[in-house]
Parts: sequence; C-alpha cells; structure tokens
Amino acid sequence: AKETINWHDRAKALTLDGRAFINGERTWSRAERKFDNLSPIDGRYLSQTARCDAADVDHAVAMARRAFEGGRWAGQAPAQRKRVLQKFADLMMQHKEELALLETLDMGKPIKYSLVVDVSLAANCIRWYGEAIDKVYGEIAPTPANSLALITREPVGVVAAIVPWNYPLLMAAWKIAPALAAGNSVVLKPSEKSPLSALRLAELAFEAGIPAGVFNVLPGYGNEAGAALALHMDVDCIGFTGSTRTGKQIIQMAGQSNLKRAWMELGGKSANIVCADCPDLDAAVAAAVGSIYFNQGESCNAPSRLFVEESIKDKFLEKALAMVPDYAPGDPLDEKTVMGAIVDSIQMKTVMGYIDSGREEGGKLLAGGNAVRKETGGFYVEPTLFDGVQNTMKIAREEIFGPVLSVLSFTDMDEAVKQANDTPYGLHAAVWTSDISKAIRTSRALKAGTVHVNQYDGDDITVPFGGYKQSGNGRDKSLHAFDKYTELKTTWIQV
Ligand code: NAD
Repeated sequence: AKETINWHDRAKALTLDGRAFINGERTWSRAERKFDNLSPIDGRYLSQTARCDAADVDHAVAMARRAFEGGRWAGQAPAQRKRVLQKFADLMMQHKEELALLETLDMGKPIKYSLVVDVSLAANCIRWYGEAIDKVYGEIAPTPANSLALITREPVGVVAAIVPWNYPLLMAAWKIAPALAAGNSVVLKPSEKSPLSALRLAELAFEAGIPAGVFNVLPGYGNEAGAALALHMDVDCIGFTGSTRTGKQIIQMAGQSNLKRAWMELGGKSANIVCADCPDLDAAVAAAVGSIYFNQGESCNAPSRLFVEESIKDKFLEKALAMVPDYAPGDPLDEKTVMGAIVDSIQMKTVMGYIDSGREEGGKLLAGGNAVRKETGGFYVEPTLFDGVQNTMKIAREEIFGPVLSVLSFTDMDEAVKQANDTPYGLHAAVWTSDISKAIRTSRALKAGTVHVNQYDGDDITVPFGGYKQSGNGRDKSLHAFDKYTELKTTWIQV
C-alpha cells in the first residue's frame, strides 16, 4: 500500500535555506541584505532570503566566467557532462518529496502536482538534455572542392537565466538543462516570490559533480539582481521567462550593454476554439476547464479565451459549470487538493481587480468571483467563469494569470480565427473539430507558437515551446533550445 505522507509534519521538519549559492557555496549577499519569504498557503514566515544586488552579480558572474575559462565543465567530453547531468536528475528524483514541498510552500500549488508535474518534469528535462548532448553532430558546408568549411557549435559562455514564480523548478530546468549540457556556466535568478527550490537545486547539481562556479543561484529582486544581470558586460546570453513588460525592459538592457543574446519566453492570452463539429464534447469541456484552472490559472499557456460555436454553447456551458466546483481551492498540502493558493496578496489583488472589471464591462459571471479560505491567512480565489465576453473587454485582452475563464461565442469560423489572433500575444491556441481540413487551415491561420487540435494538454520535452508576437522570440525545450545557448562557428580550411 502507498505510504500516506503527512505533508504538514514534513513541512515543519524541513530546513529552509534562503542563502545564495555562488561558486559551490551557500552565502548571504555581500551587503548582508535579506528579505522575508512568506508562504501563500497561510501567510506564514518561511525563511529569510538573500537579497542579492549588483555586487553579488559581479561576484557570481566572475566565478561563472572563471569556471567557464578553466574548462572543467566546458572542456569535458559531452559524454562526461551527460553522466553528471544524469546523476543530477537522479538526485532530484531521490529528493523529490523535499523539492515538491519547497515548491508548494513557496508558491502555493497543490503538493500532488508539485510531485508529479513540477519535480518529475524538471528532472526529466535535465536527464533529456544530458542524454542528447553526446548525440549532436556538427556539419560540413557544401563549399568548393579546394576548401572545407566546418560548422560547429560552441557554448556561448556565461548564461544568465531569469525565471518566474509559477513553475519555479520547471522554468529553471528549461533554461539550465540545455545551457549546462552545451557547456556553459549559468547564473540563475529565481523569482523573489519562490526562491527556495532553485537554491536546493544548485546544491544537488554540485553534489552530482557540476564544478564550483558552473551553476550559481542568486535570489533577489528583479530591479536589483535581475537588472544587474541584464546589464552586465560579461554575461553573454540571457534566457528570460516572465511577463512581456519585463521582457521588453530586459531586451533594452541587453541592447544598451553588450548586446548579449536575449531570449524571451513571455506572457499569453491563448484562444481555445470549440466548433460545433467537435469530435468529443466532454473531452473539450474537460480540457477547457481543467487547463484554465490548473496551477490556479497561473500558466503562461492557459486557454483563457474560450470561443464556442453558438449552436453548442448552452450544452457546453452546462457541462462546464457542472465541473467547476471540482476545482474549489483547498489546502495545498492535502494530496486531494487540485487548486491551491494564489502566489501572494499582490497577485490576488490583481486577479480580483480583473474579476471586478469583467463585471463592470458587462461580462456575465456564471461561477466563482470570490476570494475564499480567508481564515487560513492565505490567498485563494474561486474558479471563475464569465460568459458573454467581448474580445475588446479587458478580461479578454490582458493576461490575468489567475483562475478566470472568459467565454466568447461565434457563428463564423473566419471571424473566430480573426478574433483569436486579435491579441498582442501568440503563445498557444487550440481548435476542436472533426473536419481535418478545417483543423489544418485553422492551425495555419492561428498566429501562435503551439496549436493544439482536439486536445489542450499535449506536453513533451521533445516539443519546442515558445511564442509568436509579444509572447517571445525563442523556444524552450526540444533540440532547438540548444540554438539559444550555443554560437555557430565556421572554420574555413584551404585544401
Ligand atoms: P515578471 O516579469 O514579473 O518576473 C519574472 C522574473 O523577472 C522574476 O525573476 C523577476 O524578479 C524578474 N524581473 C522583474 N523585473 C525585472 C527587471 N527590471 N530586470 C530583470 N529582471 C526582472 O513575471 P512573473 O510575474 O514572475 O511571471 C509571470 C509571467 O511569466 C506571466 O506573464 C507568464 O505568462 C510568464 N511565463 C511565460 C512562460 C513561457 O514559457 N512563455 C512560462 C511561464 C511564465
């Protein structure tokens, strides 16, 4: 029988260490500045966290550069880096309960998902890039016979990774796995709202054999540690996941400093189009509801705009509203809970503000709309559903990043696609239809990095993830992610 874990007891016994990890050591910031890290589950104080600033960034980047030039990682055979990354992934799985608990305490997601989604996918990501790196070959260009032109890939050098709080481990893994596998040194800045799991990750990487200085983690605020990384003259590349607003600032900072490569994975306002000839209405309803409320709606690719064909809308809504109560928020440390806490009071206020604006602009609130579980001291919002939304309304235009579904209806498919594309974002989209030609035509017409047909939850490390338009300019996951963390080198040889 499966052991039942009392996660509250486990949480009490956990060591929470908010110090930075630089050059193989835990350390406070040089100026000894700290901030309090609170849990969204109950508002409880978790730990003090190092508030790293430009001086700490200088130090960490210098250590990362020294490690890179020293060649103890970049100079290793790819097969050797593979072995270390495999051990790193093994250690993550050995510590999966601890990592999952850190994730849940820090950002409020249900423990069940921290275990099977966050930790497992992050470990799988590290393993996958480790396994891939000794199978990547260079090329020979078809140049004239009196020459030979070798096209090879080299690590860019020092990579800064800045990540958000919604999937702290997984977003870190999507950056560090390809960057480290390719031989780079990395300085990672986790979100100030959820720094703990990334700090523990650095210890496990070091234990697995990643040399000192190769992987450093600096917690701190965006406008301090984050901006110092983006402006640093000795950072070669920045891999960023976060909001479009911050992404624009980082691109500017990259441009005004050393023109470091700046790869952006940004926000979304994804459209999910359900046609009357949808092959499986129950599956469409389950995906529409499940995907918007998963992770409390704090997912960049959440299908927050649902376009339903008018003739099936009543039936669709009836089924959807029957499912909504299944997502009532509960204690994130209870394994039965499927919707946890919103990351902090600021984010909750933002979400509640959008719910108010939906009401004011004439949306029909059919479910939810309230903050709940206030007695816990934590931040919880009911799964919320608005019908009668127009694409011009604020709740249809802006990324809410909370459990709020906006339902729009359509009668004309071309008009639905036009509205789906009428957004500054272009991360994900979906179409549900039995007509294969319509599915392909729609997929071609949708301006999004990923289009789902008759599903929404397709996810695999082999598949690139990234956005069109203001959802970003790069791709995480898959072999394509190596493009971000490597330079192409051509060597011309006279024969
Ligand atoms: P955010 O932009 O506020 O912060 C992201 C990170 O950037 C944090 O570590 C933060 O400290 C740092 N930062 C903030 N200001 C900075 C500055 N001036 N200079 C340098 N760094 C700075 O975003 P968030 O609220 O943490 O995350 C939510 C956003 O992330 C949403 O928009 C979501 O869609 C997006 N997201 C995108 C993807 C994707 O793959 N496209 C995945 C997950 C989340």
